[in-house]
Amino acid sequence: MPQKSETHKEIRSGEFTLQIVRKPIRHVYLRVCPQTGKVRISAPIRISNDAILEIVAHKTAWLQKQQKVMAERRKLAELHYTDGERHLFLGREYPLKLRECSGAGWAGLSSAGEIEIFAPGGASPAYLKNLIRHWYRRELTSRAEAMRLKWQERMGVHASELRIRQMRTRWGSCNTQKRRIWLNLELVKKDLDCIEYVLVHELAHLLERGHTKTFWAVVEAHLPNWRQLRMKLNDTPQAAF
Ligand SMILES: [Zn+2]
Repeated sequence: MPQKSETHKEIRSGEFTLQIVRKPIRHVYLRVCPQTGKVRISAPIRISNDAILEIVAHKTAWLQKQQKVMAERRKLAELHYTDGERHLFLGREYPLKLRECSGAGWAGLSSAGEIEIFAPGGASPAYLKNLIRHWYRRELTSRAEAMRLKWQERMGVHASELRIRQMRTRWGSCNTQKRRIWLNLELVKKDLDCIEYVLVHELAHLLERGHTKTFWAVVEAHLPNWRQLRMKLNDTPQAAF
């Protein structure tokens, strides 16, 4: 959730859409949003728009390159659910192996290192996608629940419930009133340590609601390398000035 001391603003500058967030920091940070291609800028509160635009102008080539890389990645991420297509699971890619069956279909990881999908002949890509998502959900649930038991004990907190859903913009969220933690189903494509970071982050919200110094101190005490994990999770290079 955004902190009270932050202000958000979106402006156009030539070919770029800039999403500027001003907060109590000392440097300007630029990154390109992987989903939208917009330029996300974190800036100190007192810096002028002109000064930000100057930095953007200075980094035009870098930003264009980042946008190109992100657009290529989005293209690669389009899935068709065909035999041999590669899909992510816990940070690794596996080829799909389509097999015909009668009756209800299912998906799972084979001992040969393939994502096997058993489905009736002529099943639609949407049907196959659904089978994979069922399997993803089962796998993420069992792993996240095991992690939850471990971290609840270590952190001395207790969530009432852990739930999983598809989210567009966040990896996780925490309803502190109901003490319920939500994880994004997309996390199943990430390494286990990234999933662990999101879970520890959300559990820490049960101790401290906002992203305050206290909050980050809790995260740091349990996961000293949380910055690297967050970077790996978001997989986006960031430039600082
Ligand atoms: Zn948070």
